[in-house]
Parts: sequence; structure tokens; C-alpha cells
Amino acid sequence: MSVEQQVSQYYDTVLKRNPGESEFHQAVAEVLDSLKIILEKDPHYAKDALIERLCEPERQLIFRVPWTDDNGNVQVNRGFRVQFNSALGPYKGGLRFHPSVNVGIIKFLGFEQIFKNSLTGLPIGGGKGGSDFDPKGKSDLEIMRFCQSFMVELHRHIGEYRDVPAGDIGVGGREIGYMFGMYKRLANQHESGVLTGKGLTWGGSLVRTEATGYGLAYFTSEMLAAHGESFEGKKVIVSGSGNVAIYAIQKVQELGGTVIAFSDSSGWVECPNGVDVAKLQDIKEVRRERVSAYVDEVEGATLHTDGSIWDLPCDVALPCATQNELNGEHATKLADNGCKFVAEGANMPSTADAIEVYRARGIHFGPGKAANAGGVATSALEMQQNACRDSWSFEYTDQRLHEIMSNIFKVCAATAKEYGHEGDYVIGANIAGFKKVADAMLAQGVV
Ligand code: GLU
Repeated sequence: MSVEQQVSQYYDTVLKRNPGESEFHQAVAEVLDSLKIILEKDPHYAKDALIERLCEPERQLIFRVPWTDDNGNVQVNRGFRVQFNSALGPYKGGLRFHPSVNVGIIKFLGFEQIFKNSLTGLPIGGGKGGSDFDPKGKSDLEIMRFCQSFMVELHRHIGEYRDVPAGDIGVGGREIGYMFGMYKRLANQHESGVLTGKGLTWGGSLVRTEATGYGLAYFTSEMLAAHGESFEGKKVIVSGSGNVAIYAIQKVQELGGTVIAFSDSSGWVECPNGVDVAKLQDIKEVRRERVSAYVDEVEGATLHTDGSIWDLPCDVALPCATQNELNGEHATKLADNGCKFVAEGANMPSTADAIEVYRARGIHFGPGKAANAGGVATSALEMQQNACRDSWSFEYTDQRLHEIMSNIFKVCAATAKEYGHEGDYVIGANIAGFKKVADAMLAQGVV
């Protein structure tokens, strides 16, 4: 059987086993496409149903999360944790609270996480979890009651050496605090290493909050440098305005770029003179308001509720909002407007069509599993600090993050070149991420 046929069989099995999970199918299709190249060269990676095992989570948990709202009504949500692959270390990955969450979304995120975590070079496996709970408009006490109920079930399945959740969309420091408190009570021990993204006074790490955004900027700087460019004087679009976007904007501007637009689900803001990061932080992190407040308070900023943020001419595009936010049409518009670099702060924000356009139009593209790995990498640094009951300085932690991101870029570039696709960082990230996990799985036998 040819490699092409073999890989299409793997994919058919995934489709049959996971009906209706389109995001999971999309994530698997992209990785399998890259794996054809390595399977041609190194057929031993097809041994022992390795690829079939890689596409099947080790464990998938779905549970009921009942909680009481402020009016005394009982609400029911669904909770998930997909423990995808533990070849390299305990399962590691965030929790997402968003109404769009379903098992397919969690599986796509968990699958991506395996390769991302492998690329960090740190000993962490891949997992993801969350709930279809919508934090928007909920009171602080409602958030706390939901987090506590979620943890009442989740606590049985996690632990410092087993599975270490963190944040993702809808889960930040506040939610991690409520979940950690309930875990501590149930387990009757202060097990710092069970969650990451903790507060600084109870086992958290400096730089963890900034890490995904800073890491994205460091990765993109390396990608720019590899093509003789830098952020200096560049016009940059950053979609989103959550934790990833805010710190990407901050670092890009520190590195000499001008961020000319950002967004949230209510619209996008055009700001030709750059972003006032302190103001954006106050609106999103402290007041938890929409981006329209920014336009009311900062001169020269305009709110758009129609059209697309990707219509705006720019040099660099950093999608940091959510999956599939940038499609083929958007990518064509970016290319027509002269954009030369795209790097993903969100997980899978570019559709398969968009990636085709990047390739066809010569846009240098850093895929999320490489470009946004700074968050989980710094989570692994938090685990290291917890394990030795230490806390590192901001400078030291940031330097470690910077080194990790530079190294990820180098590994992706070198692997793409080694496998005959120089400059294709999708292929580089998928193959480099895969190899480490695959070698560990082969060494550990059929489990
Ligand atoms: N949710 C983040 C990601 O997508 C971070 C996960 C973590 O720190 O475990 O990688």
C-alpha cells in the first residue's frame, strides 16, 4: 500500500470514529498531510498502529456540571477533559469555558496540544478540557459556584503527575483560583503542581500571564529575521483582545511594530497610531467590558461592526481570537494588500483554505502549535518552580521563554529543510513535534 493510501485509511478511521467533529477532523487532516512526508522517508513510524494510536485519545471524560445561579435556579452544563497523549509527560493543556465547546472542539485542541507541547522540548503530554458554560454576563459568585462544581468531578482525574490543567478562552487567573481552592479542599493537600496559571502568592509563575503573547512576538521576530526583516516600522493586525492578544500587542509595540487593529466578538477597532495597552488592559482585564469602551476613551480609534479586520492593509497578521477566524478569502485579501507574515496566537485560527493561500502567495506562516507554544511552555516552567518550591525572577523566566521560542522556530525551520520543504513551518512543526512523541511511543510499547 502506498503512503498516500495508508494515510487516507488513517483519516477514514478518524472520520468514522468521530462523526460530526469537524474541527477535530481539520486538525488531524493537517497533521496527517505533513506526516506523509516523514512516512515516505521513515516507514518505521507506521509500526504498531502508531498513527492510529496517536489519533485516538488515551481517555475522554464527559461529565455533568450542575450549579445554582443567582436567582436560585439550577443550571446544567457539560464538562470535558480529553487526556490525549502521555508519552512525553503528564497530560498538559488548558480548560476552555465557552458556549461553543463540544467534544470535537476539545479533541482538536487536545490533539494540537500533543505536538505543541512536544515542540517546547519540556516533559509534558497533551490534553485539553473545558465546558459549554458561558462566563459572559455571569456574576463573580456564579463563576465561583460553576468552577467549584466543575472541580468536584475533575479532581478525581488530575494531579501533579497525572494531568495538569490551565487556562484557555474564558478561564483566567480568577477561574484557576476558584478551581485550585476546591481541589485543595477535596484533596486535602496544597498540591501546587496540579494547575498552572496560579496567582503569584500561591505557586504561580511570573511571566505566565504574558507568556503566550510574548512568545508569539518572539517567534514572529525569529521568522521575520529569517527573511531579513524585523518588527521595526511594521503595521501589525492582532485579532482578539484577550490575554494572548493584549500581551502580543504589548511586545510587538516594544519591538518597534505598530498594532493598527484588534477586536472582540462585538467588532474590531482600527487604531492607526498604535494601541494604548494600559487602557486596553483596564477595559478587558479589570472592567471586563467590550472594545467599544476603548473607542469612547481613546482619540483616533474607530469601531467597525461590519467588514473584516483582515481587510485592513498590514505587513504582519497575528490572529489571536479563536479557531477558523481567518478563511481563504481573508487570506487572499491579506496577500492582495501586501501582508507577508502571518503567525497564530490562537489555536487553529486559519482554515485549511487560508493555509493554501499562504502557500500559494508566498506568505511566511507560523502555525499556532509552534507560534503560541509560549503559554504552555511557561506553564511547564511554573511546574518546575512548584516541583522545587522556588520562584524565579521575571527576567530569568522571560529569558527562558525567549530561548524556548527561538529554539522552536529553529527546529521548525531546520526540520522543514531536512524534509525538503524549506520555509514551510507547518510541515516543520508537525514533523518535529511528531518525531519526539512517536519515538517515545515506540520505546514505550503498545499501551
Ligand atoms: N491554553 C493554552 C494553550 O493553548 C495553555 C495551556 C497550558 O498552559 O497548559 O496552549
